[in-house]
Amino acid sequence: MSKQLYEVGNKPPLGEVPEQMHAWLIRAERFGQPTAAFQKEVVNTPSIADDEVLVYVMAAGINYNNVWAGMGVPVNVIGARNKAGEPEDFHIGGSDASGIVYAVGKDVTNVKVGDEVVMHCGTYDRNCAWVKKGGDPMYSPSFKIWGYETNYGSFAQFTRVQAQQCMPKPKHMNWEQAAAYVLVAATAWRMLHGWESSSVKKGDVALIWGGAGGLGSMAIQIAKAVGATSVAIVSGEDKYDYCMKLGAKGCINRNDFDHWGMLPHWKDNAGYAKWLKGVRGFGAKIWEVLGEKRAPNIVFEHPGETTIPSSIFVCETGGMVVVCAGTSGYNATVDLRYLWMRQKRLQGSHFANTKQCNEMNELAQSGQLDPCMSRAFTYEELPIAHQLMADNKHPHGNMSVLIGATEFGLGASGKPAVAMVQPTLPKGDVHTTPAPYPMSTPLPDIAEGEPITIADDGSKVRDLMHRGIISCAPDDTVGAVAKIMVGNEIHAVVVMDAQGAAVGVVSQTDMVLARQGRTPDQARSMLASEVMTPGCATCDAEMLLSDAVSLMTGRRMHRLVVTEQGQPVGVISMTDVVRKIIGD
Ligand code: NAP
Repeated sequence: MSKQLYEVGNKPPLGEVPEQMHAWLIRAERFGQPTAAFQKEVVNTPSIADDEVLVYVMAAGINYNNVWAGMGVPVNVIGARNKAGEPEDFHIGGSDASGIVYAVGKDVTNVKVGDEVVMHCGTYDRNCAWVKKGGDPMYSPSFKIWGYETNYGSFAQFTRVQAQQCMPKPKHMNWEQAAAYVLVAATAWRMLHGWESSSVKKGDVALIWGGAGGLGSMAIQIAKAVGATSVAIVSGEDKYDYCMKLGAKGCINRNDFDHWGMLPHWKDNAGYAKWLKGVRGFGAKIWEVLGEKRAPNIVFEHPGETTIPSSIFVCETGGMVVVCAGTSGYNATVDLRYLWMRQKRLQGSHFANTKQCNEMNELAQSGQLDPCMSRAFTYEELPIAHQLMADNKHPHGNMSVLIGATEFGLGASGKPAVAMVQPTLPKGDVHTTPAPYPMSTPLPDIAEGEPITIADDGSKVRDLMHRGIISCAPDDTVGAVAKIMVGNEIHAVVVMDAQGAAVGVVSQTDMVLARQGRTPDQARSMLASEVMTPGCATCDAEMLLSDAVSLMTGRRMHRLVVTEQGQPVGVISMTDVVRKIIGD
C-alpha cells in the first residue's frame, strides 16, 4: 500500500507514485509579485497519457516565463487553459528540470522507470498532421512550452512531460546544474545549427551578443565545440574573463560605442554618416579582436531593436543574423541595401525541436557545455528566486532551485569525457536587462478570434484638423517652398500635381536634409519633387482621431492630408493632437 503523500525531500520508493504531491502553485486570485503569487499547496499527482512520463523532480530551472505566469500578464495562463477545456484552476510552472523517471505511458520507448533525465520544454501533439508528415514540431500549431503554456511543470515533486522531452542527464552534473541549462542551450543550438547552409561551421567567426548572459554563454560554447571562433559582446570588461574561459577568442565592451539604436533616416546624410562612423569603428574592433580583417559569418542576436542595424552591417556577405528575441525593443530597422546587395539573411529562431535538443544535450553529456549555473536556491526559496528575477537583481547565468534533492551538490555520478574550466561571474554581478517578453504568447494573427478593444473618446479628425491646404507644385523650387512655409507659419507643404492630387509632402525635415552637402544656393534651387517625401498619407475627415494617430506613428509621420469625398480639404498634425491632449 503506497503512502498518499511524501514530504518534500523524502523520495518515494522508485516507481511508487503517491496520490498527492507538494507543489508551488499560482492561482488567479493571487496574481502579482512572485513572493505573493507562488504558494505551497498539496495537489493530486497528475495522471499521464500513453506518450507521457511522470518524473520525480530533483531540481528545477528558473526562467522569466513564470514571473509572467505569476503576474497573470500578458496572458492569464490558467484562464487560457480553462477556456481550452482543462479543468485545473491553478498553474504549476517550471520549464527546466532534472529528475528520475517514476512512471511511463504504454507507448513510451525512449526512457524507463529509474532513468535519470533532464527535460526540454518543447511539447506538441503527436497526432498533429504537420508533425506526422515529418514537419518540424516547432512549426506545429499545437506547439506549447511545458510549464508555462502547459500545467504540471517542474515546481512540484512530480512533473508530467511528453516522453520526447526526456533526455539523459549528464552524469557529471549535480541535480541543480543539470536543471539549469536546457532551455537556453537548446535555443542557442537551434540558432547556431538549425539554419541549413547558414549554420555555424568550423572556421567560421560568430559574433555573440550578451556573451555573459544565459543564451550568450551557451552560444560561445556551442560555437567553440564546432571549431568556430567567437567574439563576445558585453557591457563591461569585468565579464571578459568569464566569456574567454567559456571559449570566446575576445570580447568587446558595447559601452565603448554610442551608435546603437534605430537607423537614422536614409535621407539623413549627416546622421547616416555619423552612424556609419560608429558602426565601422565597431567592425574595426571585431577585426582587432580577431587579429585579422574578417567579418562574422553568423551573428547571434537577441537585444533586437538597438543592435540589429549593426549586426546586419558587420555580418559577412552571404552570412546570417539569427535572432530569438527583442530585449531592447521589437521594431528593428534594416538598411535593405546591405541585406540584398550583400545577400545576408535575417533569420528568426525560437527554442528548438526534439532532435536539436538531443544534439545539444550530447554536447552537455560530453562535458563540453558548462551549464553556467550562477545560483541555486532551496525549495523554500523558489518565490524569492523569481522575485529577484522580477526585480532584475539576479546574477547573469542560469539559476535553479532544489525540489527533491535535499542538499546542494548531490547527483553527480561520473566524470565528463572532456574536463571543463568552471568559469565564475564577476563578484556582485546583477542584471541590467529589461524584462524579456514571455517565451511563448499567442501573437495576433489572421485567425485571431477576439478583436482588442481600446477605449476611445470618439474624437474625429474633423474636430481637430486645419481646413484648407497650403500646397506647392512638384516643380516649385525649395526656395519657393521655404517662403510658403515661413509666410504661413506651417511645418509642411503638400505637393499637388496638375490634376490636384496630393503626390507628396515637403516637411521641414526634408528641407533640412536637402541642405546637407549642398550650398544654400544649390539647396534653394532644388525642386519640391526632388526633396519631398513621396506618396501622401491621407485620412478621411470622419476617421477616428486614434486611428489617425496610429497611421502617423506607424508611418513615422507627423501629419496627414485630410480628405472629404476623396478630395484633399485640410491637414491634421501631431501638433494638433498634442494641443488636444494638453487642452483636455
Ligand atoms: P540574459 O541572461 O538577461 O542575457 C541577455 C544579455 O543581453 C545581457 O546579459 C546583456 O549583456 C545583453 N543586453 C541587454 N540589453 C542589451 C542591449 N540593449 N544591447 C546589447 N546587449 C544587451 O538573457 P538570456 O537568457 O540570454 O535571454 C536573452 C533574450 O532571449 C531574452 O529576451 C529572453 O527572453 C530571450 N529568449 C528567447 C528564447 C526563445 O526561444 N525565443 C529562449 C530563451 C531566451 P551585457 O549587458 O553584458 O551586454
